[in-house]
Amino acid sequence: MILILKPNIRPSNDDYQQLMAYLHNLPNIHLRLHHEQGHELSLTEIHLIGTTNQLSVEEMRRLPAVQSVVRVSERYRVMGRHKEDNRPTSFRYNGVHFSQENLNVFAGLCAVDTPEYVELMMKSLRDNGQVCTRMGAYKPRTSPYAFQGHGKQCLPFVFELAGKYGIKVIAMEVTHESHVAEIHEALHRTGYPTGVMLQIGTRNTQNFELLKTVGRQQNYPILLKRGYGISLDESLHAAEYLASEGNQKIIFGLRGIKSNLGDPHRNLVDFAQVAVVKRLTRMPVCVDPSHAIGSRDKTPDGILDVMHATAQGVIAGANMVLADFHPFPSKALVDGPQALPLEVLPQFLEDVQLVHEACLRRRDLARRYDAETLKYEAAVAV
Ligand code: PEP
Ligand code: MN
Repeated sequence: MILILKPNIRPSNDDYQQLMAYLHNLPNIHLRLHHEQGHELSLTEIHLIGTTNQLSVEEMRRLPAVQSVVRVSERYRVMGRHKEDNRPTSFRYNGVHFSQENLNVFAGLCAVDTPEYVELMMKSLRDNGQVCTRMGAYKPRTSPYAFQGHGKQCLPFVFELAGKYGIKVIAMEVTHESHVAEIHEALHRTGYPTGVMLQIGTRNTQNFELLKTVGRQQNYPILLKRGYGISLDESLHAAEYLASEGNQKIIFGLRGIKSNLGDPHRNLVDFAQVAVVKRLTRMPVCVDPSHAIGSRDKTPDGILDVMHATAQGVIAGANMVLADFHPFPSKALVDGPQALPLEVLPQFLEDVQLVHEACLRRRDLARRYDAETLKYEAAVAV
């Protein structure tokens, strides 16, 4: 059970103290506190863990300082959707809104290579009205002999160039807690010209210690990729590892699952599950068509497979698209075969927009028919 307290309540407040005294006396229940400091409001949730089925939602709602109460089911306690659960499905970070209702595109380099290519990428994004990107400094690779990313040494120029071109959020993978500290330090030293969304890659979806440390910090939102060889349920529980440590600014990313049944694509596209993740949880959902498809192959209609996969995700309601681009794909140090050249960016963005509009129209259509169904049911009941 989760008690959501009145906004801006402080521990020194009488109501708060009375509430805590009462809760500490409940048998077989222990408490976990979540504080979130927003721009204007500070929000506190108290998670009651243990034998909560004897507690009445109505009684808990009447306790001092409590604004609302959510009875959670066992699955996905923090990020799940529960009955009468009005907790948000959105968050803001560095001026960018992330939600289960909207869509942000993160086109960018799979791996940072030279400052020149980073600048060409950033400039192209700015010229196409974009404020988000992806840039890998720490690359988990199959072979220990392959390029592992430039690491902390590239962070200052990446952040400065992002600031120069008005990029507000960079999705950047971290594979170790020291990477979070290095990003923090580099942002601080460069004067916070941009923001970072910490990405947990598919190979680390069940790296529980990494999840716990990344979940414990509240400076950066998190993009958690679905594990490529585990069930959706297991990956959604991985999101709980982040959230139960305190960070609820999580986006869940689908990127295809590892199976030869997806051949000739790099992975088997799983974007029909966008709808499932949105139904089960409050997380905005990202799709990564580049790592799902793995090539620049085209269909006879002239549309890239990557764009077809993107469209599948967006029509299903995806809220974020992560896509590999490169000024010179043949020179990319990582994942060149799937990187799209910058010349394709305007078409890619227009295609995404077109499908997103279709998605919104489908939502309106469904709402209209839902209203019709309610009218019909009411008429039948008379
Ligand atoms: C990536 O986005 O660069 C990446 C390595 O993705 P994934 O973890 O999905 O393979
Ligand atoms: Mn990659």
